[in-house]
Amino acid sequence: MKNIIIFGAPGSGKGTYSEEIKTKYGMGHISTGDVLRAEIHNGTELGLIAKDYIDNGQLIPDSLMIDILAKTYDSLTATNGVIFDGFPRTIAQAEALKEMLKERGHEMGMMIELIVDEETLLSRLLNRAKEQGRADDNEETIKKRFAVYHSQTEPLSDWFEKEGIRNTFTWKGSKDLMLSEIFEEIEKQNP
Ligand code: AMP
Repeated sequence: MKNIIIFGAPGSGKGTYSEEIKTKYGMGHISTGDVLRAEIHNGTELGLIAKDYIDNGQLIPDSLMIDILAKTYDSLTATNGVIFDGFPRTIAQAEALKEMLKERGHEMGMMIELIVDEETLLSRLLNRAKEQGRADDNEETIKKRFAVYHSQTEPLSDWFEKEGIRNTFTWKGSKDLMLSEIFEEIEKQNP
């Protein structure tokens, strides 16, 4: 399987669709948000640094993130492709990912972009706050995360287009429909 980069705003479903793709095709999965939350939970030095950024809805500095990503990638034993969920979030991270994979003789594969209107995003995140109690899922931090997404992450979408690997899926109110479109595209690109 080709590697997959899953890309979209907070609440667009990156984690949910990653799990579905992972289960269906037996791929590896790196969620940088999950990696950071585990560090915080374990009280590590990295966790202490990351907590301030996450609680403020800001991105962790690129140099730190790129290092974490490479270490996590190298520790994976999956042989059937990897899903990158929540990474890259800046152009510097994207360039670093491309280079890191090239050094290992691998490729970025395909990028899956999830487009969801902001009203739906906000209501999903507020719902998740009730269900999972994530510290950064409160209305004030969510607004900051949207602003960071628009200014630092969204411009990456065109970067992927230039790389020739962008595949865009727009939310039309049904998870099953979204999933079937995504699976169809993955299978088309992995004959
Ligand atoms: P997520 O679980 O992907 O929504 O990530 C939660 C938070 O972790 C983000 O709001 C950032 O503060 C941080 N984070 C996760 N991935 C990255 C990344 N690739 N670059 C910088 N910060 C990140």
